[in-house]
Amino acid sequence: MNEPFVRVLGSADWHQTAHNDHSCYTVSDRILIDACPSVVTQLQEAGVDPLDVHLVLVTHMHCDHYMGLAPLMHYWRVCRQTDLSGLTIAGPRETVQDYVDFTLRFVFRDKLDACVTRMPRILPLGEGDTLHHAGYAVHVHEADHAVPARSYRLVHEESGRSVGFTGDTRYQQSLPGFFRDVDLLLHEVSLGAGPVDPVHNAGCRHSSAQEAVRVCRESGARRLLLTHCYEGKRQTALDEARRLLDRSVDWAMPGSVFPF
Ligand SMILES: [Zn+2]
Ligand SMILES: [Zn+2]
Repeated sequence: MNEPFVRVLGSADWHQTAHNDHSCYTVSDRILIDACPSVVTQLQEAGVDPLDVHLVLVTHMHCDHYMGLAPLMHYWRVCRQTDLSGLTIAGPRETVQDYVDFTLRFVFRDKLDACVTRMPRILPLGEGDTLHHAGYAVHVHEADHAVPARSYRLVHEESGRSVGFTGDTRYQQSLPGFFRDVDLLLHEVSLGAGPVDPVHNAGCRHSSAQEAVRVCRESGARRLLLTHCYEGKRQTALDEARRLLDRSVDWAMPGSVFPF
């Protein structure tokens, strides 16, 4: 059996630092969760052919989550001539088509018709949707963020093991149920250790370590990985989560592989 794993390509929030790009991961090097700007070279440095990644699950259309679609589609165009039909880009149904169209225009401009004869497949996703790819069942939940956003739960069909990605979201009561008993939970902690001021957070709708711990505890997730945090807030977020939680908590260190 191929053991399921997550590879971290980036875990920064909207502020990249040396050796850490925006949040971006693979699941078993076959599914991409969000696309950071350095995604193509990150995959290559990890020994993964970007053409082997046929599905991108975009959590939402903020630039720190989708900008890597541009180099990825450019790479497919270079290597697959003008045929991008092997690439599926899935994301919030309200926005995914518009942002992929915009990105194609940005990359290929008025040469689009010549550069891309077969378009990538666009898959709009909403609450409760499920799809199957590369031995995984992908389940979709609406996150609570400043723009339409999705959380994803991926179940490795052979082993039954599962991993959850919150994407960007503030706490909502439905999240622990969606992530019930996952083996690995990647939770964003943009707001550092916490606590969160709900008035301030009404607009941006993010989470701190305190919400990550709450979701982990209420869901029964076996292991917590904190991610999507500015470097200066990272250690205090990790310290707070470890203080509050009686199970394994780690930082989603870029370049790391986490079996689940
Ligand atoms: Zn973000
Ligand atoms: Zn966002």
